[in-house]
Amino acid sequence: QYSSGVRKVTLIPGHGIGPEITVAVQKIFEAAKVPIEWDEVDVTAVRGPDGKMGIPQKAIDSVNANKIGLKGPLMTPIGKGYRSLNLALRKEFDLYANVRPCKSMEGIKTLYENVDVVTVRENTEGEYSGIEHEIVDGVVQSIKLITEEASMRVAEFAFVFAKENNRKKVTAVHKANIMRMSDGLFLRCCRDVANKYRDIKFEERYLDTVCLNMVQDPALFDVLVMPNLYGDIMSDLCSGLVGGLGLTPSGNIGKNGALFESVHGTAPDIAGKDLANPTALLLSAIMMLRHLKLHEHADRIQGAVYAVLREGKHLTGDLGGTGKCSEYTNAIISKFN
Ligand code: NAD
Repeated sequence: QYSSGVRKVTLIPGHGIGPEITVAVQKIFEAAKVPIEWDEVDVTAVRGPDGKMGIPQKAIDSVNANKIGLKGPLMTPIGKGYRSLNLALRKEFDLYANVRPCKSMEGIKTLYENVDVVTVRENTEGEYSGIEHEIVDGVVQSIKLITEEASMRVAEFAFVFAKENNRKKVTAVHKANIMRMSDGLFLRCCRDVANKYRDIKFEERYLDTVCLNMVQDPALFDVLVMPNLYGDIMSDLCSGLVGGLGLTPSGNIGKNGALFESVHGTAPDIAGKDLANPTALLLSAIMMLRHLKLHEHADRIQGAVYAVLREGKHLTGDLGGTGKCSEYTNAIISKFN
């Protein structure tokens, strides 16, 4: 994976605005002399030997070889025979933890100025196991699957993340008062892992209480870990507190690698017009650098992004500015000189 200190990274530009924001990240990384080499692949679905549409083998091989990737948004065609490509990637690489740091940024006006939380969401099971059936006409059943294995590894990830990133507290978010067995097991796993990390504070909170407290005083929270559905909802809620999905980065951590991605979609309404905001993908790429322990490069690029946002002269349309994607990109690059 390493040759002369240069790390190879799979790059999936994706669809819609994906290629534009990807080029922005590539330009900024080149200007900042980041020691990584991009291995660009297309993940547009192809028909496999079984007749089903899926991710091209070349893309799978690339992620398997490099173990780390950066991904733009993907369009899932609507129609029979298509599975979500995002879901397929998640399954293929067993990306079990979804991490989303939500931090207030100067220059982005929001309700609170002091948000700094990280949501860690179990990404493979829970309510999204996909086990649903109709029992009789008018009655369907959907199964929430919670396993010790998946709960332990996501809890372990949350504590390791907290430790490595100098975080002070992990909150397990649950409804074990109602879902006694399933959330009960999840919670027990969090407690077990918490016992190994005594220097990090651990607390248990009900999901509804966390929602209430989060919108009243986000400073109460640090790292949060939770089952799949709760994490899906809480992570969007937290994104909203810092300026929305267009600014929020994310990482999907797996057993054999990690995939970093912006959480917004392909934005077909502005695609190809040089209007997209590349910040979410760029911040995801910075998360990736930290995952690769390239902290100096991460700090430098992050400093430049924050400075350009703070100055507010080159903001893109979604942030109320008139700047183009390329102008914003160049403004960031100019900070390196
Ligand atoms: P969207 O996020 O693409 O767009 C919602 C609104 O936000 C649009 O007005 C868009 O212009 C704006 N927007 C989003 N990202 C922006 C950015 N970086 N800069 C400026 N403006 C931005 O959501 P949608 O319209 O519901 O979905 C469009 C397509 O994206 C669908 O095919 C959907 O399946 C796909 N999608 C993919 C992902 C992913 O790959 N992770 C996530 C969500 C949606």
